[in-house]
Amino acid sequence: MKTVLITGASGGIGSAIAVAFAQNGYDVALNYNKNEAKAKKLAGILRETYGVNAAAVGADVSDRTAVNSMFDEIDRLFGNLDVLINNAGIAQQKLFTDISSDEWCSMLNTNLGGVFNCTQEALKRYMLKNHSGVILNISSMWGQVGASCEVHYSTAKAGVIGLTKALAKEVGLSGIRVNCICPGVIMTDMMKEFDENAVAELKKETPLNLLGAPEDIADSAVFLCSEKAKFITGQILGVNGGFVI
Ligand code: NAP
Repeated sequence: MKTVLITGASGGIGSAIAVAFAQNGYDVALNYNKNEAKAKKLAGILRETYGVNAAAVGADVSDRTAVNSMFDEIDRLFGNLDVLINNAGIAQQKLFTDISSDEWCSMLNTNLGGVFNCTQEALKRYMLKNHSGVILNISSMWGQVGASCEVHYSTAKAGVIGLTKALAKEVGLSGIRVNCICPGVIMTDMMKEFDENAVAELKKETPLNLLGAPEDIADSAVFLCSEKAKFITGQILGVNGGFVI
């Protein structure tokens, strides 16, 4: 049985990824930051429905000490880690000139620093020793093309793309694959700051004239982490209805 850690598994995309991996027989460590109740409830559902080992593991991914404690807990509960999905993230809409340095640091430390913290621990504790493993990073189409009023978000997500490509080259010989998904507009809590008109506009700008569902990302994640993708590394997959081509 393979084990996956999904950061931000208490959120919209992360919880769909957790369900999809449990459906595919993985044991699942569900990371949360504030929403412990949601992660614990989902872990219980995965255990009961799919008969897998599943547990909620808390940590603010931007805090290295907390991340290290979370990995200690994963070690106790699962004993190994085959797949890491760096999905935890925050978003904020603001003019560049209004972003405070605290907001800038929080965005970078969570959306990019969190990937650094979790990936380093996963590599050092398990994947390099096992000479195998898969890392999947969830960036954003705005990391590919930049979003007005989301410069700090776009910067962090572009960093995730760079990290993916560089790390894939570094750890390929160690049998470890590193890939990245750039979601388009996916209807989760992250979109709740957008009103109905803004969402309708985004839909109209999407060539398939559809809004994405968390399951669209989860299905691609399962594929990229599976043996069927064994020759794929360092790649950036847009799952965006054609919004960015
Ligand atoms: P969401 O529903 O708001 O979920 C965000 C998740 O991230 C929650 O589980 C949250 O945990 C977790 N999180 C936030 N800060 C954290 C921290 N410091 N440490 C650990 N966990 C933290 O958003 P989503 O739409 O599912 O987003 C998931 C990922 O997809 C993000 O990286 C986002 O940037 C990316 N994405 C989303 C869209 C979209 O349209 N929705 C598009 C492109 C990319 P708690 O709730 O427990 O605090």
